[in-house]
Amino acid sequence: MKNHCSQCNPSGMAQFNLTKLALGLERGHSYSFVCEGCDNSAIYKDESGFLWLAKSINSEDNFEWVEVGLEDL
Ligand SMILES: [Zn+2]
Repeated sequence: MKNHCSQCNPSGMAQFNLTKLALGLERGHSYSFVCEGCDNSAIYKDESGFLWLAKSINSEDNFEWVEVGLEDL
């Protein structure tokens, strides 16, 4: 079975439930994962409580951070 996140596989079977991960994160912490279905590779909650998703671009070392809301996950 492939590792997917809940954003690209909302069936409830996703390995990485982003909503749960986001709710469990403390401010200033991030969680890295490898989704095989999309470019998401980490989720981060900043000191103000805003959520960010890291999307890998082309290579694994290149990230773009996108601000997201809980409703987007
Ligand atoms: Zn995904």
